[in-house]
Amino acid sequence: MRNDKYRPNSPPYLLYGLLGVSLGMNIILAVKLGSDDAPSADVAAVEVESIEVAAVEPAPVDEVALAAAETVEPIAPSVTAVPEGYHLVHGTIDHSLARTFKAELDEDADAIAAVYSRLFMWDLDLRRDVQKGDEVWAIYKVNGAGDVEIPAAWYESGKLGRTLKAYEYRADGDTFASYWFDDGTEVPYRLVAGPLQDYEQITSLLRDRPTHEGMDFKTPVGTPVVTPKSGTVTRVNWNHAANGNCVEVRYADGTLAKFLHLDKLAVQAGQHVTSSQVLADSGNTGTSTAPHLHYQLDRSGKTVDPLDYHDTLRRRLDDDDGERFAQTRVRYDAMLGEEVAAR
Ligand SMILES: [Zn+2]
Repeated sequence: MRNDKYRPNSPPYLLYGLLGVSLGMNIILAVKLGSDDAPSADVAAVEVESIEVAAVEPAPVDEVALAAAETVEPIAPSVTAVPEGYHLVHGTIDHSLARTFKAELDEDADAIAAVYSRLFMWDLDLRRDVQKGDEVWAIYKVNGAGDVEIPAAWYESGKLGRTLKAYEYRADGDTFASYWFDDGTEVPYRLVAGPLQDYEQITSLLRDRPTHEGMDFKTPVGTPVVTPKSGTVTRVNWNHAANGNCVEVRYADGTLAKFLHLDKLAVQAGQHVTSSQVLADSGNTGTSTAPHLHYQLDRSGKTVDPLDYHDTLRRRLDDDDGERFAQTRVRYDAMLGEEVAAR
């Protein structure tokens, strides 16, 4: 200020100066508030109560803070409407993932925690690798008992030292949506030349549920099931009450492969099969609550993890998907708050 001499008829510079200081203090306060509790005090409050952001009135904003926000950096992330029926949850882990969801959600906490941990099971064992202070974010929708949809989820992992960000997205040419990380890498691994060309989701892994001896692929009834390797069909439809229609193939290397809960079989016992030959249509027979294929491998009486036995790959989105996937990400990131998105 060049004119430092107070004159009655000139603008009240001293007052402006004081206001300026006050503004500055407000900015500092607002920034502090924002950084203490990501994504922001406003969004965090919404998340803790787990109510739709769309239904929440924006919190009253101090006019001075608003003026400051306009002239300096935007402080509060803009809260973008979450689509009808979807909710946000955000929590910090104190003990376990299950307890974190229970603390944040009144209903469906277990079902949401189950879908959430299945999503990240490829990179983290969410029983062992969870650390106090890790943070979880998810957009979710409950369609019915135990039927939970999570179109976007993040996990900030102390162990990994980074935040895993997963988005549901159907890649160009795919029948089903899958989950993809923000860098365009697919979240779930795939078996190279596995028993199904196309499936909705892998819903169970050996490493995820050691008491269950196979890998489960969620897929509609009627999906062709092929033998990944050449071999001989050793038996069909044994233990029918539990397995439903089923096929067992002894691969040339001696490994026994079991394909359970099938619909119509295309092979019979004693038949030789060559790799990628169709064995059956997938189904929902035996003790199966939803259409899926159970694929199990045994060698010398011991269960083998298909992920160890087969080559695996992680696909990457190609350029055709670039823009559409970016739009998907931006939309979900906006729902979770810009400040969080910037992490
Ligand atoms: Zn199974």
